[in-house]
Amino acid sequence: MIESKIKQTVRDVKDFPKPGIIFKDITPILKEPLLCAEIVEALASQLINIQIDVVAGIESRGFLFGPSLAQRLNVPFVPIRKAGKLPYKTIRESYDLEYGSAVIECHKDALLTGQRVLIHDDLLATGGTVVAASKLIMQLGASVSAYSFIIALDFLNGRDRLKSYSDQIYSLASY
Ligand code: AMP
Repeated sequence: MIESKIKQTVRDVKDFPKPGIIFKDITPILKEPLLCAEIVEALASQLINIQIDVVAGIESRGFLFGPSLAQRLNVPFVPIRKAGKLPYKTIRESYDLEYGSAVIECHKDALLTGQRVLIHDDLLATGGTVVAASKLIMQLGASVSAYSFIIALDFLNGRDRLKSYSDQIYSLASY
């Protein structure tokens, strides 16, 4: 089962980047190309009934599987990046993390009005990042059709914060 393969492969790093956080390190997954391919297939198959025009991935670990997922779904990929990284005109949103706060941006012309966007990241923690990403998408007149994560930390209740944007919230492994 994909969930147990992911859980066996992810590395827990205690007290990173701050004391009290158990960081789910997905880099061991990247060393296993067959598992990476299975993950992309599993993410795509969860989304089979969802209308998706664009995949938006969150910097930086949302860039590891997001482009492959977009290619698998045959739709464009849009990067949502930390402040100051994107070269062209941008729009921005600030947000809180499980540890600290930050600003994310996307290009003003990243999406067209009415496009249905799948938001992808490696991991759902408090949901602050993807709520900010959802607001960026709505600023451009597009909508969130679903969320897709490899891992969800359900004990942080991030799903509750996303429901008002889309109740289609998918993950492959939960804790
Ligand atoms: P949040 O906004 O709280 O849902 O945080 C999600 C973002 O922070 C994702 O981009 C994750 O990669 C990262 N993140 C937060 N907590 C963890 C954790 N315990 N392990 C790995 N990544 C995390």
